[in-house]
Amino acid sequence: MEKIRVFCPASVANVSCGFDVLGFCLKEVGDEIIIRKSKQKGVKIISVEGHRLPSDPRKNVAGIAINSFLNKYPSNFGFEIEIIKRIKPGSGIGSSAASSAGAVFGVNKILGDPATKDDLIKFAMEGEKFVSGKAIPDNVSPLIYGGFTLTRSIDPIDVIKLPIPNELVAVIIHPQIEIKTLHSREVLKENVPMELAIKQSANLAGMVSGLYKNDYDLISKCLVDEIVEPHRSSLIPEFYKLKDVANKAGALGCGISGSGPSVFALTKGNEIAKRVADEMKKVFKNHDIGIQCYISKINPNGIKIIPSK
Ligand code: ADP
Repeated sequence: MEKIRVFCPASVANVSCGFDVLGFCLKEVGDEIIIRKSKQKGVKIISVEGHRLPSDPRKNVAGIAINSFLNKYPSNFGFEIEIIKRIKPGSGIGSSAASSAGAVFGVNKILGDPATKDDLIKFAMEGEKFVSGKAIPDNVSPLIYGGFTLTRSIDPIDVIKLPIPNELVAVIIHPQIEIKTLHSREVLKENVPMELAIKQSANLAGMVSGLYKNDYDLISKCLVDEIVEPHRSSLIPEFYKLKDVANKAGALGCGISGSGPSVFALTKGNEIAKRVADEMKKVFKNHDIGIQCYISKINPNGIKIIPSK
């Protein structure tokens, strides 16, 4: 294979009770990456379309992740990549993860699939570490495994792919401000009171059970974040108003997507999703901050190969 084009979906991490461990990927929103073999060894980013990002492979997460891949699986040729960026960087819906994971997925395919899924997560995490200061896999795991994932451990990598209830739909509201993951980590507390840790682990266990049992009421009860949301919500314009209108419009729950500023709501079915999206959009009517809104089913496949144009 000389060339590959891949779709790299947006994703929601830190799903309420699942800070740093629970994530899912979207169907409707994503970047594309085109990767070509080249005679010259190493990685060259030949273009980035859509948003301003570094073309130096040591500063772009796609280059960092591929170099990490090539350290374990060296190749006697190199790679040229084109990034078509549709997920705004710093949006909280996994813009950097789409590039890190998409890049290593594509290179692995060109080389005949030598790496395992868990290897790919590890290489992509190097890109995430560069931008957020910490190697966290909760956005890259659902991109590599597809669907909803629980990252139980990062050393060694242990990812559990969870079932997706059929009618589960995500609504994303992205207020057009940028929050860097690095900055939103700084507002977190070092220690967690025992009482909150117990509530959070009970909700996480309930959430996983709810996904397995197709139990929307249980999912709804468990979409609660006792630990991170109280601190990060102040970074997100109108957060509690968004949550209030989403819940009143029938959402199962609503929380901060990744490290924000995007906010997600989960719903049972498309009709409720549309209503929730309309109510959330109204919060920003006549506001000086613009928004983007997406409604998407959960993407069971993650990153996928698409036909080259
Ligand atoms: P997000 O959750 O949207 O990925 P992050 O703060 O984790 O937000 O990452 C965005 C940062 O990563 C920006 O500073 C951006 O310049 C940097 N970055 C480097 N390479 C890329 C890339 N290929 N795609 C997206 N962001 C990148």
